[in-house]
Amino acid sequence: MFTKRFNFMTVGGIHIGIDLSWLFIAILLSWTLAIGHFPFAYPGHSAGVYWVMGVTGMLGLFVCIVLHELGHAFVAKHYKLPISQITLFLFGGVAELKKEPESPKVELFVALGGPIVTLVLAALLFVSTYFGTVWHWHFMILGVTSYLATINFLILIFNLIPAFPLDGGRILRALLWKAKDNLAWATKITTRLGSAFGFFLLFFGLFSFITGNLLGGMWLVILGLFLQRAASASRMQFYVGKELKGEKVAKFMTSSVESVSPNMTISELLKEHFYRSHHHLYPVVDGEKLLGYISLSEIKQAPLDQWNSTFVKDLLVPLSECAIVSPQTTALEALNLMQEAEGHPTLLVVEGSKLVGLLTSQDLFRLIALKIELEDESKK
Ligand SMILES: [Zn+2]
Repeated sequence: MFTKRFNFMTVGGIHIGIDLSWLFIAILLSWTLAIGHFPFAYPGHSAGVYWVMGVTGMLGLFVCIVLHELGHAFVAKHYKLPISQITLFLFGGVAELKKEPESPKVELFVALGGPIVTLVLAALLFVSTYFGTVWHWHFMILGVTSYLATINFLILIFNLIPAFPLDGGRILRALLWKAKDNLAWATKITTRLGSAFGFFLLFFGLFSFITGNLLGGMWLVILGLFLQRAASASRMQFYVGKELKGEKVAKFMTSSVESVSPNMTISELLKEHFYRSHHHLYPVVDGEKLLGYISLSEIKQAPLDQWNSTFVKDLLVPLSECAIVSPQTTALEALNLMQEAEGHPTLLVVEGSKLVGLLTSQDLFRLIALKIELEDESKK
């Protein structure tokens, strides 16, 4: 989800970045404000005035969300929880913790850090809107402050809904975790609430859309989809951290590897390997020496009529460009490597200079998916 992000500032050692989805939301939000909200609240002005207000409102919201996330980040920093970065996407941000909090207390305080900032912002904005009205501020300024006061209040309420990974869901998880001393159980309950609430928003949004509330309905659908996906991703992430912790690549890799010779033609390779054993990637080995690998995307580079005269060695991905790990590499490191190496999700497992196995993300997730399924079936 965070692949298309770029950094734009660093505060107190924390990198703040924007996910591309935020740009889409920024445009949609400015448009909603300029076409819907402000003309309705302050009728009789030109489109240009509403667009200035719309863009200012959007930028103001952006600043408020960054402050909210910094609220989480600074509490986390206080408890020495490493925060890698903050990414703003869709309706909020995510302060990415490098690991799960160590105790319910830390989880609770980190979760409260953001909503407290938002509460203060909403209060300040309501107070300034009040005095601005008394002192007859320009309507463009008042329009933006009253919008930001309301939206911060709504963000506060929305974030406190006990649906993981919303802040309220984290607060509930901390309380359940404390009550039963069982983080896995608390994660399961709160992420299910997250999914259920996401579906509710989605269907309610579709209903609103069909019954004529186009803008409101559309926002609810986007929110619902976002929350539903975030809830299941959080649950998966929790299990990934739990199951892979302390494990080595050797446990997950496929060790019976079918390797191919560099001197085969592409036609032979397809006939003898790809069509027969259905792997999507084959290491290329000359005698004992590992040269690299070949997969369908390399084969596609050669025109069909040259497959009889093109050899594996002409198309293979050389060892210098392969993602390589050792059987002793930790599974979490291997997962990070896969996420960084876009387009090369298969890792070659090499010991000394000898190929001993292959590792794909499916190898890592198969076990985790199985455990989640078993847990869902057995403890309903
Ligand atoms: Zn938050």
